[in-house]
Amino acid sequence: MKAYLLSSPNESDLHYFLRRSERATKTRIVVSANKVEVVAPMKTSERCIRSFVDSQQLWIRDAVKRIHSRSDKTKSLSPAEYIDGVTVPYRGDQIPLTVTPTSAKQIRLQLVQDKQFVVYLPATHQEFGSDRIRRALEQWMKLQVRQQASELIAKHSLKHQLVPRSLRIKTQKSRWGSCGPNNDINLNWLLALAPPIILEYVVVHELCHIKHKNHSKDFWTLVSDYMPDYLTHRRWLKQHGASLMRGL
Ligand SMILES: [Zn+2]
Repeated sequence: MKAYLLSSPNESDLHYFLRRSERATKTRIVVSANKVEVVAPMKTSERCIRSFVDSQQLWIRDAVKRIHSRSDKTKSLSPAEYIDGVTVPYRGDQIPLTVTPTSAKQIRLQLVQDKQFVVYLPATHQEFGSDRIRRALEQWMKLQVRQQASELIAKHSLKHQLVPRSLRIKTQKSRWGSCGPNNDINLNWLLALAPPIILEYVVVHELCHIKHKNHSKDFWTLVSDYMPDYLTHRRWLKQHGASLMRGL
């Protein structure tokens, strides 16, 4: 088995092993905890294999990252694979997922009556189906967080004239939200996995930073004016934050 380096202009090096198989009819990539293996038919040229692997670079890095983050001790809220019958964390709940094949070209996702995710998966997406579904859910949840956060900002801004200049929904590995010097608020989309009151607490927290750019006593007094029981929500985030951060 030969080892190759994945071409990586600005990311860390990643090696993969090439295995030739008599039975393989097309090239495929298998990512496991300790290696990335590319299985190719005997006749496929090395040039073809390289360009295929390069084209799948993002997917490979994603898969490696997820396998590594799964192997640590924090409990993940998410299923190991996105297939029919598993449950998906959303707003503090576990929502059953139904996968339906479709002849349509685009993957489509629906939350039915807040009780069930239905994914319409095109036949052409079957190969990396689980990953496509996960990404569709992520995209959908980002939109939901944006909409819910906008509503919460509208609900709370007027009381103390705390109006952000902008709202961005981001992927962040270590924080739930931030408020910049010009009152641009960033929120972590993974708050979609937490109960709605937690998203509300983080929105209120960042709004209060418009007035106080610190965690002074005055800051917390302002937070508690909005949410007298904010300490419960802070504690919830401390306790469950690491699980949420593991993502979908
Ligand atoms: Zn803060």
